[in-house]
Amino acid sequence: MGTSSRRDFLISGTTAGIGITVNSMFSRRIHSEENSDFNRVFYRDLGSTGYKVSEIGFGALNTRDPELLHAAIDKGINYIDTAHGYMKGVNEQIVGRVMKTKRDKVFLTTKLHTTDNHQENVDMLDKSLKRLQTDHVDLLLYHNISDREMILRNDQIKFFDEARKKGKTRFVGVSTHNPTEILDTSVESNFWEAVLIGYNYLSPPNVDVSIKKAREAGLAIIGMKNLRTVSQWDPISDIHLDKSGKATIQQALLKWVLQNPYIDTTIPGMASFEHLADDIAVMGMELSFDERRALLQYDEDTKGQYCCGVVGCNGCKNKCPNGVEVNELNRCINYAYGYGDIELSHENYNELSPSNRIDICDNCDECLVRCIKGLNLTENIQRARELFG
Ligand code: SF4
Ligand code: SF4
Repeated sequence: MGTSSRRDFLISGTTAGIGITVNSMFSRRIHSEENSDFNRVFYRDLGSTGYKVSEIGFGALNTRDPELLHAAIDKGINYIDTAHGYMKGVNEQIVGRVMKTKRDKVFLTTKLHTTDNHQENVDMLDKSLKRLQTDHVDLLLYHNISDREMILRNDQIKFFDEARKKGKTRFVGVSTHNPTEILDTSVESNFWEAVLIGYNYLSPPNVDVSIKKAREAGLAIIGMKNLRTVSQWDPISDIHLDKSGKATIQQALLKWVLQNPYIDTTIPGMASFEHLADDIAVMGMELSFDERRALLQYDEDTKGQYCCGVVGCNGCKNKCPNGVEVNELNRCINYAYGYGDIELSHENYNELSPSNRIDICDNCDECLVRCIKGLNLTENIQRARELFG
């Protein structure tokens, strides 16, 4: 990835419309003379919250440079996503350094892996607010919830409700990789106000049905895992859709998500100024026929390499005789292989329930679960052993 600085980024922004010669970081991007609008930021209603947020939000999970967040906000990005657990708390501190001066310019979200202990949850939230240098977030998300029972639990609802009543958050929501069940249950609950879902062009069609239903019920819908990544050694951002290099697969993937009017915003992870420039450029743009075709081709070329369990595939649910949910292991592996972030991979693995740990696979030479998308799960289990064993 490029190492462009904030100064380069801002210079290039001020020269929008005169082409790409100022900064080489744009040389393989869509920013050309005929594309002078790349600095425009488009906003959408965030459910029934009354807020308007940028179509592209800022996923801070792998952001280490506060200057990157400063630059994004200066450009007009106003939806910021972090979590209590990212980088063992350091990520919230990085975001907090920026919130010190820019809190009033953004809609700030964090997520908590709550426990059964009410006081522990209260302390966790207070710690997050302290790190974020603010007395409240705008949206507090119940982190990575996979089944309906969890979001209907009275003790959890009580904690989130109390946080809202005390003004520590304006809104409450849920984040999930199991979109259909959680969207449907959130509507039914009449409590949760927003849902952050894994969503990309490989999401099963029933996910769209649930998104529409939830959005029409007034919930805010935020998309994550929009940029399908299969390998850190084959970064999709470097694949061009045509010889002119006008757009990349990565940008087409984001555009695909934004074609859905029921998605209010997205949170692509931003680790560099190059990511930021690429992602901002996508706002307000149509997904062309050629881009749709290129996505199909890309899917064909990378068959068997990507687990779409993070965007709603349930093809292997309850298929392991020993109770392991393979898609959960795949998700953790992908943070290492797809994002190239070993630390994030371990953080997520450490949050898995004991029933999904790799030691349960010790007695299997070969994985007995079959993937409906052709993934070689024996190989994946081996990768998991190497990473977490
Ligand atoms: S392993 Fe295969 S079947 Fe299971 S969630 Fe992933 S893509 Fe779907
Ligand atoms: S290796 Fe065995 S225990 Fe592990 S997921 Fe596959 S079948 Fe289940």
